[in-house]
Amino acid sequence: MDSTYAQLLDGKALAQRIQTELQTQVQQQISATQRPPGLAVLMVGDNPASAVYVRNKERACTKVGITSFSRHFPTNTSQAELEQTIQALNQDQRVDGILIQLPLPNHLDAVSLLNQIDPDKDVDGLHPVNIGRLVRGEPGLRSCTPAGVMRLLQEYSIDLQGKQAVVIGRSILVGKPLALMLLEANATVTIAHSRSSSLEDITRSADILIAAVGRPQLVKANMVKPKAVVIDVGINRISDQQGQSRLVGDVDFESVREIAQYITPVPGGIGPMTVAMLLHNTVLSYTKFHS
Ligand code: NAD
Repeated sequence: MDSTYAQLLDGKALAQRIQTELQTQVQQQISATQRPPGLAVLMVGDNPASAVYVRNKERACTKVGITSFSRHFPTNTSQAELEQTIQALNQDQRVDGILIQLPLPNHLDAVSLLNQIDPDKDVDGLHPVNIGRLVRGEPGLRSCTPAGVMRLLQEYSIDLQGKQAVVIGRSILVGKPLALMLLEANATVTIAHSRSSSLEDITRSADILIAAVGRPQLVKANMVKPKAVVIDVGINRISDQQGQSRLVGDVDFESVREIAQYITPVPGGIGPMTVAMLLHNTVLSYTKFHS
């Protein structure tokens, strides 16, 4: 590797290793529990990106030995029908994890549905009880994407204590829980967002810079402190001048890799780590019921 470039944080390789470890753990436990772990992914409508994500999750479940109880509902499904399904899955002892694939069609109240999932089966970590546990620093199911970021940083022994960490983005899915996890790891945390002024000044102060925005290649080299650790959560589909479509992150990878010390690729960085953490949470919930 050219030493003038940042070292890649290989989320794909780590995610595969985590899956192999989980597979072994499930095999060891299954004789005692007499059943495999179960995950129910609920998808409503035909969002093509969601369909790809759900397929990836199901494939990963099969690899690890998790039974899938996924349900695909038509776009016009009512709130009441989904509520009944969630209640039934909450009671179903074969199901350790329940996940609602977002976004949902506009006529549905996603927050109300998420709140009806049993917090101990909330493998996406979005229920107020699990967010509350995170705020208080108590054990609980942690949101998958931020947990994947933390696990990847840990894998490469990146020291967070006392470091300046800047998170761009304040969504409940990524930015906010990630800021709390970094705080828990003793970083000094700043959250920047769409209303922040002088974004470059904030980001240039970061030893650890994390972009979770959804704006293709927003973070340029001049926004990055030399030798910073740069984590790119963004997944954006763009078309190039030839009309070819490809995925890019929120970071301008080519320019930033010349200045950063570590960087995640897109794809192959945080995306696979998110799936790995979903499997981890499902096995954690399964283990908890049987320990
Ligand atoms: P979101 O739209 O809910 O939140 C985006 C955040 O970015 C907001 O808080 C907003 O304030 C901030 N923002 C918007 N424009 C900005 C700007 N110009 N400058 C500074 N901040 C700005 O999105 P999200 O759900 O948090 O997802 C963010 C990105 O991460 C998306 O690209 C999404 O596809 C991706 N994502 C990836 C994974 C994964 O597995 N890798 C998981 C979830 C989300």
